[in-house]
Amino acid sequence: MPTIEFDQVTKNFAGNTVIKGFDATVPDKEFLVLLGPSGCGKSTMLRMIAGLTDISSGELRFDGAVVNDMEPKKRNIAFVFQSYALYPHMSVRANIGFPLVMDNFKWWHHIPLVGGFARRALMKRGDIAGKIDQAAEMLELTDYLDRRPKALSGGQRQRVAVARSLIREPALYLLDEPLSNLDAKLRTQMRAEISALHDRVQKSFVYVTHDQVEAMTMGTRIIVLNDGVVQQYGTPKEIYDRPANTFVARFIGSPP
Ligand code: ADP
Ligand code: MG
Repeated sequence: MPTIEFDQVTKNFAGNTVIKGFDATVPDKEFLVLLGPSGCGKSTMLRMIAGLTDISSGELRFDGAVVNDMEPKKRNIAFVFQSYALYPHMSVRANIGFPLVMDNFKWWHHIPLVGGFARRALMKRGDIAGKIDQAAEMLELTDYLDRRPKALSGGQRQRVAVARSLIREPALYLLDEPLSNLDAKLRTQMRAEISALHDRVQKSFVYVTHDQVEAMTMGTRIIVLNDGVVQQYGTPKEIYDRPANTFVARFIGSPP
């Protein structure tokens, strides 16, 4: 479970600096929230952590090791996007198990010579079924495993997406505004469920939102961003009690 260190991490797009260098050390197992208005650079920062976009300058470290050039697959992460695409023709069970089934279908398993060197142990069918049951239980989906996504509510579908992402048991969970397509009631319910998931799995989470309430209720640490510049990094209490500037005070809604 990684400690995440930002060391002057900067991102430019075509000469435009969208994340300006800053320093922060996030201990492991935290629920880090990236909070800020639309367009401030939250998704870009999350994608740099995931390795989906490269870092223009500075260093990003997991447990002290520089990961700037590490491929996403090697980072031991799960990424939950805002718009979660489930496979409509597959059951909830098949949707959740899909990443493990795909791992078993990697081409090199089917070439005996290469397999002799590089074969990774195939996961037995029973083991996959066990993992699916475990993930389903964690997200209270056990009763829905044989349904198709269209027979589920929005919140249940989002839980399937989270279950699918955690089936590989990553060290780091990255979530980009995963609740923004849900109605207010479901959103409140899912906040509590994601916080409970964090408590259960005891792993590091990085969660992107533009919603102050979400940040303050779910985060154990918050990075407040505006226009690519980190305005403040601290615990919800530190940020609420001592906002670093008027932007933070206004955005959080505490007295300046
Ligand atoms: P947020 O997630 O906070 O809404 P983003 O990280 O998506 O913000 O975007 C931050 C800034 O970077 C925006 O000005 C956006 O237009 C710009 N940006 C994001 N992705 C790209 C890209 N691939 N090419 C050029 N500019 C981009
Ligand atoms: Mg975004």
